Amino acid sequence: MQSETPLQIYIDGKFFSEDEAKVSVFDHGLLYGDGVFEGIRFYRGSVFRLEEHVDRLFDSAKAIHLEIPNTKEEVCEMLLMTIRENKLQSGYVRLVVTRGTGNLGLSPYTCPKPSVIIIASTISLYPKEKYDKGLVMVTCSTRRPSHDTLSPAVKSLNYLSNIMAKIEAMAAGGDEGVMLNSQGEVAECTGDNIFVVKNGTIFTPLLASGALYGITRQAVIGLAENSGFPLREATMSRYDLYTADELFLTGTAAEVVPVGKYDERVIGDGNPGKITRKLMAEFRKIAESEGRAIY
Ligand code: PMP
Repeated sequence: MQSETPLQIYIDGKFFSEDEAKVSVFDHGLLYGDGVFEGIRFYRGSVFRLEEHVDRLFDSAKAIHLEIPNTKEEVCEMLLMTIRENKLQSGYVRLVVTRGTGNLGLSPYTCPKPSVIIIASTISLYPKEKYDKGLVMVTCSTRRPSHDTLSPAVKSLNYLSNIMAKIEAMAAGGDEGVMLNSQGEVAECTGDNIFVVKNGTIFTPLLASGALYGITRQAVIGLAENSGFPLREATMSRYDLYTADELFLTGTAAEVVPVGKYDERVIGDGNPGKITRKLMAEFRKIAESEGRAIY
C-alpha cells in the first residue's frame, strides 16, 4: 500500500521508493518463511529499546543458523538512518533479515547472502476506546509451536500459526486470541504477551510455556519492580485468566492494553484495573522519555 509521500525502504545497503522496493521471488524468506524479524517503535525522535530488539534479532538469527552480514551496531545505525531518510519523528520500524536468494530447494546453503530490509513507517494503533474499555479476547485452538519443533522464542518470518489463531480470534468476535501450548498452558497472544493481576500480585507465563521474550514484557516487569508490585513468572492455565482481577497485554505496537472480557467472562468489574492503569501510564512515560536519539 502506498502512502501519500512514498516511503524510502532500505534493502541491502540502498534505499528504494516503496513502489520499487522488491525482493526476489527466489528469496527463501518468501518461499519458506526462512528469516527473522523485529517490530520496533520510536517516539518523538528516539528509538525505544533499540539495542534489546537488535539483540533479540541476532539471537533469533543464531538459533536458525542465519548469519546477519552486519554487526549489531551497524544494524542499529542502518535502522536510525532509515528513519532519518523518511524524516519521521514517531512511528514503527519493521526490521527483516531473510535467508536471501537461492534455488527452489529447501537448503539454505544455496542462499549465499541474507537480505536486510528496513521499513520505517507510521503506525496504526488499537482505537482509544480499547485502552479505555479493554479488549475482547478468546482462546484459540491453534497451539503455540512447542520447543521440540521451532523454539517459540525465535521471532521468525513463519507466523502462520499466529495468523491461524488470529483468524479464529477475529471470527469469534475477539480483538486478540490467547494461544496455549501443547500442554494446554497459557503461552501468550497472537502478537502480544499476557499478564494477570490477582490479589495484588502480577503473573505472566514463563518463557518455557511458549511466550516470546517480549521487549515490552521485559519493560513492564521492570516497571512492576520499581512500583513495588510483586511479580511472578508462572505456569498458567485459562482458569487463572478467567478468575483474574485484572488482565492486560503487552507488545511493541499495543504497548500496555487492558482486557475487558475473555471467553465471555467479564474480567474484574469490566474496566481496566488500578495496577493495569498505573503500568499503562508508567510505560507511556518511559516510552516517551527513554531511547536512542535518531537525529
Ligand atoms: N508475542 C508475539 C508472538 C509477538 O509477535 C510479539 C511482538 N508483536 C510479542 C509477543 C510482543 O513482543 P514485543 O513486546 O517485543 O513487541
